[in-house]
Amino acid sequence: MRILVVEDERKVAHALKEGLEAEHYKVTLAHTGEEGFYLIHSETFDLVLLDVMLPGRSGVEILSTLRKRGLQTPVLLLTARDTVEDRVLGLDSGADDYLVKPFAFPELSARIRALLRRGRGEPAARMKLADLEMDVVARTAARGGRPLELTAREFDLLEYLLRHQGRVVSREMLARDVWKEAARHTPLDNVIDVHIARLRRKVDDPFARKLVHTVRGVGFALREEPA
Ligand code: CA
Repeated sequence: MRILVVEDERKVAHALKEGLEAEHYKVTLAHTGEEGFYLIHSETFDLVLLDVMLPGRSGVEILSTLRKRGLQTPVLLLTARDTVEDRVLGLDSGADDYLVKPFAFPELSARIRALLRRGRGEPAARMKLADLEMDVVARTAARGGRPLELTAREFDLLEYLLRHQGRVVSREMLARDVWKEAARHTPLDNVIDVHIARLRRKVDDPFARKLVHTVRGVGFALREEPA
């Protein structure tokens, strides 16, 4: 597995290279955005670690250009800032994940493994819809930057809805994929409805903009609807 690290602070870049090489990745360093940009176009990488604060063009600018040109490689942004706007901006510009500096190396390593698995068709580690965000690795969810206190089942339910965002999810799908009880004699419909109601109280009640919608006769959809 080949990783490109774009980081202008040489000490940080070399520490990353050493740590990643110890985990048997092949690491190439770029110390400027331009150098990184050139390397991405001339070589093939399985993953790019991209620092946001670079001299010249920022990591976010570089990333949006690369995505516009069709780059599919997973990109993990390293950011020194941690505000909802920055995280959303990073994900909107095409980052697959981000880490806020300073971070612990094992955290970086876990994120990299998750992204590389995803490259092989496994699910995303972080998802968002409007100001709702979920981190599947850490099992945390937040709306408007505020953490949501979810039970394990509510978390699984919200994760499923986020993975299917914009699409209608039926009670049968939830019974099969979230409760994993497809062949039950009594339908789970009431149980599912109770859980959806609880999820709604936590995810939607405190906010003007509702995300959990009931699709009459069919099921539910997690989506942003025009005001
Ligand atoms: Ca930097």
